[in-house]
Amino acid sequence: MIQEHVSVTLIINKTQKLDKLITMEREFVMLKPDAVQRGLIGTLINRLERTGLKIIGMKFLKVTKEMAEKHYEVHKARPFYAKLVEYITSAPTVAMVIEGPNAVAITRKIVGATHPADAAPGTIRGDFGIDIGRNLIHASDSVENAKMEIGIYFKEEELIDWTPTLAPWFTE
Ligand code: UDP
Ligand code: MG
Repeated sequence: MIQEHVSVTLIINKTQKLDKLITMEREFVMLKPDAVQRGLIGTLINRLERTGLKIIGMKFLKVTKEMAEKHYEVHKARPFYAKLVEYITSAPTVAMVIEGPNAVAITRKIVGATHPADAAPGTIRGDFGIDIGRNLIHASDSVENAKMEIGIYFKEEELIDWTPTLAPWFTE
């Protein structure tokens, strides 16, 4: 009898954990050279951090031409491609991996539309930018692309598995 009860509890716990796992996402974010040059690192990280999404990886790096070409491969044929590679490799950046439920949608909402002129007030690009070629921040547009982009900039062992003590105050 006791044994049966334990199994049911285990199944319930497993199901609950599975629900959480399904919505858990990893997002790749990069503070671009203009954000670093303008001294906005802290301000922009704060906007992402205060949501409760968890930073699990972070690095200050100058993007190489090879990294940039991999990252922006999808835009290779676009007229802005050469300038985009030049821009992203022009000064240091801050690369981050952010984890949490709906991390991609929440981060992209905070980042705002690609052109700062279209980006809503309250978004990073809406509040800090004017030019599409200087739009401060990158965030992957899907879980699959995030995985690919994380692979360009991070080794798996550089991503930290940790539990914020405030986690129960952000997710039920
Ligand atoms: N970009 C640009 N001119 C354009 C479109 C895009 O310089 O007309 C740059 C801009 O830095 C943008 C990046 O290319 O963030 C990637 O473009 P994408 O359409 O993927 O926008 P995002 O996902 O960054 O909003
Ligand atoms: Mg994009």
